[in-house]
Amino acid sequence: MKKWIYFVLTTAVIVCNPPHKKADTKLVVFISIDHLRPDLLTRFDDLYTGGFRWFIDHSLWFTNTHHEHAYTATGPGHFVLGTGRHPGPSGVLGNSWYDPEKKEKVYCVEDSLSNVLGGGGRKVSYRNIDCTGLGDWIKKSNPKSKVYSVAGKDRTSILLGGKNPDLAIWYDWQGHFVTSDYYISEVPAWLIQFNQTLHIENYRDSLWRRTLDSETYIQFSREDNFFGESDIFETDPYSPVFPIGFGSEEDIFDNIGRTPWFEKFTLDLASTIVIEEQLGADKYPDILFVGLSATDWIIHNWGPFSQEAMDLMLKLDQYLNDFLISLDQSCGLENIQFILTSDHGGLPIPEFLEKVGIKDGGRINRDSYISGTNAILKEIEIKYDEDDLVKINSGRFYYNHQKLKVLKIDQLELHDIIRTHITSIDGISRLITKTEIYNASENDTLLQRFKNFTHPTKGPDAVILLDKHWTFRNPYGTGHGTPYDYDSHVPLLFVRNGQDQKFIRRKIQTVDIAPTIADILQVPFPPKIDGKSIFEVQE
Ligand SMILES: [Zn+2]
Repeated sequence: MKKWIYFVLTTAVIVCNPPHKKADTKLVVFISIDHLRPDLLTRFDDLYTGGFRWFIDHSLWFTNTHHEHAYTATGPGHFVLGTGRHPGPSGVLGNSWYDPEKKEKVYCVEDSLSNVLGGGGRKVSYRNIDCTGLGDWIKKSNPKSKVYSVAGKDRTSILLGGKNPDLAIWYDWQGHFVTSDYYISEVPAWLIQFNQTLHIENYRDSLWRRTLDSETYIQFSREDNFFGESDIFETDPYSPVFPIGFGSEEDIFDNIGRTPWFEKFTLDLASTIVIEEQLGADKYPDILFVGLSATDWIIHNWGPFSQEAMDLMLKLDQYLNDFLISLDQSCGLENIQFILTSDHGGLPIPEFLEKVGIKDGGRINRDSYISGTNAILKEIEIKYDEDDLVKINSGRFYYNHQKLKVLKIDQLELHDIIRTHITSIDGISRLITKTEIYNASENDTLLQRFKNFTHPTKGPDAVILLDKHWTFRNPYGTGHGTPYDYDSHVPLLFVRNGQDQKFIRRKIQTVDIAPTIADILQVPFPPKIDGKSIFEVQE
């Protein structure tokens, strides 16, 4: 018996030992690629020759890593990656959501007190998020450490960056990368200069073409003209195929965000930050968060098995290669700990699922959904002679508890009315209630994911659960946002120069990523966070 225990522990130590500790790490480069299902790394393995090749070949790869919250989306996902906490109890209940206390819709990083610096766009920052993140823990231990965050999406950059980074930067959809006066009082000169050289308008007549020959795309993905993909570059008739450009009426500054070139801008800016702010130059470890956002819109439009998604990955492979060359020159790859992961996975387009034999999926019919929710409101109004008992927002139901009390209405009655109508819609067969979530057994993975996504006062009283393989996207494209494994499963690679590739198959939660990096840097993290260090078994 003792022998057996010894064997298990030794194995654990061998498997889990972090290859490098603080002394080796001058810079952490944390890359989050939006909507990156793990198969986007594995399916094109034979074709990668650049950055992905290097990452894959030098990775400690945790192949069974999942987000453990129900609504798998960019805001909640990046909050988890940045803080090691589940999003619900911290009040991050989506990208945006209805707040029953404020009686209005809120955005996850909105901040009316802040002003945008360097361009336009919405007023955003970390101000209203009530906890610290990995960058803050590093700075607390080493006040001279630098923390920078850059991404296409504001929420990605802000939620990764934490409460007090040196700077968080994002794209304003008007041709500039910007920040907020929450972080800094004046835009750094290098950011002004970077924006001056961007010239996104020059892409107006550019065409996105395939990198390799068309046969290779057939071999590794599927036909280009696949029904169910979005036809973004609209030409008559419906033809979701390469090449892809911009329509003459399209807003180039907005739509550049759904092209691979957008990722290049973000990576070039990341290189600029490392050089200009001298990240990794001294003994105090720095961290740079990089969020690649175009992947999300590209996969939404064409699906993860499309030629477009494949070509995006091949181009990213080369862009990341350029990024690595720049990092090697400025900081030295041997001094950098890389992390590669994602905010959520995603569903293949339903038409593709059907083709490969998964026939239980589909697209929610918008008209059925609207008439279903209207029928709920109507029945409640007629039955109780009240039009203010239930608020419906994005498949979530919020009850007016004050009125329920006065009118002595049991909320179970409302649950029943809602359930009857909502489950008559194809693709929705379950309504999950808050009571059910809080009474769930520890073994109920699905309800635990809901528990990690609800909040005692701000969470809804009931929420719909889409059936497996269903999406709200209609008539084209696909999405994410469910608690199913295809949406929760993400890659997790800890990458070091000189490290041999190793696959680790035990289950990892994404809340563990931030504390694990803290552990590598030997930086303490708050005891109350949800995650733990993946390597803590060796201590
Ligand atoms: Zn998305």
